Amino acid sequence: MNATALADLSADELTALLEEQRAAYEQLKSRGLKLDLTRGKPSAQQLDLADELLRLPTTTKDSAGVDVRNYGGLEGLEELREMFAELLWVEPEQVVAGGNSSLTMMRDCLVWLVLFGGVDSERPWGQEEKVRFVCPVPGYDRHFTLLESLGIEMVTVPMREDGPDVDAVAALVADDPTFKGMWVVPTYANPSGSIVSQDVAARLAAMPTAAPDFKIFWDNAYALHHLTEEEAKSADILTLASAAGHPHRPLMFASTSKITFAGAGVAFLAASTDNVAWYLGHLGNGSIGPDKVNHLRHVEFFGSPQGVRDHMVKHREIIAPKFAEVDRVLTERLGGRGVATWNTPAGGYFVNLDVVPGTASRVVALAKEAGIALTPAGSSFPHKQDPDDTNIRLAPTMPPLAEVTEAMEAVATCVLLAAAEKATA
Ligand code: PLP
Repeated sequence: MNATALADLSADELTALLEEQRAAYEQLKSRGLKLDLTRGKPSAQQLDLADELLRLPTTTKDSAGVDVRNYGGLEGLEELREMFAELLWVEPEQVVAGGNSSLTMMRDCLVWLVLFGGVDSERPWGQEEKVRFVCPVPGYDRHFTLLESLGIEMVTVPMREDGPDVDAVAALVADDPTFKGMWVVPTYANPSGSIVSQDVAARLAAMPTAAPDFKIFWDNAYALHHLTEEEAKSADILTLASAAGHPHRPLMFASTSKITFAGAGVAFLAASTDNVAWYLGHLGNGSIGPDKVNHLRHVEFFGSPQGVRDHMVKHREIIAPKFAEVDRVLTERLGGRGVATWNTPAGGYFVNLDVVPGTASRVVALAKEAGIALTPAGSSFPHKQDPDDTNIRLAPTMPPLAEVTEAMEAVATCVLLAAAEKATA
């Protein structure tokens, strides 16, 4: 393996490398591959882990004797709220158990803030001249498309290993009341794998904001999704915000989408009890209660909070080798070349690959032509615009391990070819 950085190669050596990679790429194309690293979905093997759910619940009554098949219980089944309150380090009365999608809960909160305002709003956000959100990047594509759909402007700040660049956030929101909120994926962020430190969380909870109704959308989608035995504990944002005098600032979200069934799990909202009452008040206009049969099924399946943690170990055993494989191939093929950096996440669903600036779209296009679907370049940025055209999100959970290997070998070839093209252009 020649591991000389491209920057240290002579012009002749670079041309030779380009020819070599072109040949490798032609050979790759001739294989007619059809591989997909685009979506952070659980594999069939992971979904199978929860198949017992299909035979549950064994009863139709909750612990209070209420028939779960009927209407009612807008806030969700108490036993399930208690279970996930413990897992999310909040109080049961701060938790709502809802339908199958936390993204839908986020959408509902945003829409109601725009239409009606929050518990601490002077007026509905829709009556403000301009509403803006702070968006740490790279981030979750659907967070950005959701804001875009509502006409909320996005201003980016860098996502660092310990969370959003809190100095940059604080500077934006201190004097400008158009900033009404921000996204934070606190644990094993999509796609950077970052974990918000206690210090960053405390500063976000306490920072002065010009908008009295500033909201932190604390999307803890990967709270329990550890890839190593060391299980990161998310910062307790509700307590921190409450202690700092901003109890209504955070809205926390989580779900079992990547714990049980991605399409038939349970989503959770956690917030101050005033925010919970606000949420349920609006929810009640359009719902007579959630799917409590599914709630009960989940309670029976897990048995206890520890049951959820034990279940996540089984996921880890399936997906950790896939993440290790991504790192192995990238290290072997690209290590020392100076053409890419990537993270080795301790949890979550993604690997964040940064290639030579200006080549991410080219890499994705080359991969596509060779039959490997990658998430479009720029997807992790508002309006799908990566200013440096450098970022690629890899999602290795869904394909079988052998396909991850094949796909990553192909990605490495595309990264090297695009870098060699740029260096010789
Ligand atoms: N939040 C983040 C950060 C995600 O990565 C995802 C899915 O990829 C979701 C939310 C979607 O969650 P749900 O399935 O509960 O709607």
